[in-house]
Amino acid sequence: MDPISFTGNPLDRASAERPGEAWIAARRQTGRFLPFWQMKPLVTANAKAAFLPWRADWEGRTSVFLGLDNDQPLFAVDLGKNETPPSLDGEFHDMRAAAFVLPGRDTAIAGQAKALLDWHARHGFCPNCGHATELKDGGYRRLCPQCGAEHFPRTDPVVIMLPVFGDECLVGRNSRFVGGLFSAFAGFVEPGETLEEAVRRELMEETALKVGAVRYARSQPWPFPSSLMLGCYAEALSKDFTIDGEEIAEARWISKTQARQWLKDEVLDEMRIPATIAIAHHLLKDWACE
Ligand SMILES: [Zn+2]
Repeated sequence: MDPISFTGNPLDRASAERPGEAWIAARRQTGRFLPFWQMKPLVTANAKAAFLPWRADWEGRTSVFLGLDNDQPLFAVDLGKNETPPSLDGEFHDMRAAAFVLPGRDTAIAGQAKALLDWHARHGFCPNCGHATELKDGGYRRLCPQCGAEHFPRTDPVVIMLPVFGDECLVGRNSRFVGGLFSAFAGFVEPGETLEEAVRRELMEETALKVGAVRYARSQPWPFPSSLMLGCYAEALSKDFTIDGEEIAEARWISKTQARQWLKDEVLDEMRIPATIAIAHHLLKDWACE
């Protein structure tokens, strides 16, 4: 199986040490910081994540500890959303675009950084009492000094599934997708649901497809802004489906032979294939080429 973008993060997150403020302060002295502007990571001319020493003009910016790369402490810093990018050695790339050019490990680290910085940018105030919160544990906790509530960076589970019937699988075109993109089906797991229940509910809502066994296959952190994609195969009990016409505009059963051709040509009967950085691409590939 091919590795998936945003997976394989090699850092030691030092979760036992990072709550120590003196420990973090010491790591910052020798630390390297990955700058983000408008939530886009800085990329070097030779397509690596651009980790730089701390600069005095970053004082007051939110920065988070990512982990230790062997002994090298790595951090990320949020340089805000101004119209003009800060002048630094490198170029800010949209996170999705960066995932296509960065080495796998750098994509995983940049994805971790983006998810964390994005969370901090949106959680400056306590949802319990409204008071401003403070960054703790190198960025893995926010504490409300007013009511004492603790807040932790969230990860939202999303099921993404390929329904399978015999030698065929069902792919759908989301009404929000442009350019004939067909993909797996997906949706957020709701409170009180298992993974399997979420898969069955989403497929029922979107396609009225009846599903038996659900098998979890692989997962992928997806920092847009903070999802964890849980890739599954769902055994359809029949091929009968009715698209909801709202979220899903069209769906088609395709055979393994067709899927292999699709993977090779990237377009099949005007259906465009999901990008290689998406887990949907790998669910399809793993199934068609197993
Ligand atoms: Zn509070």
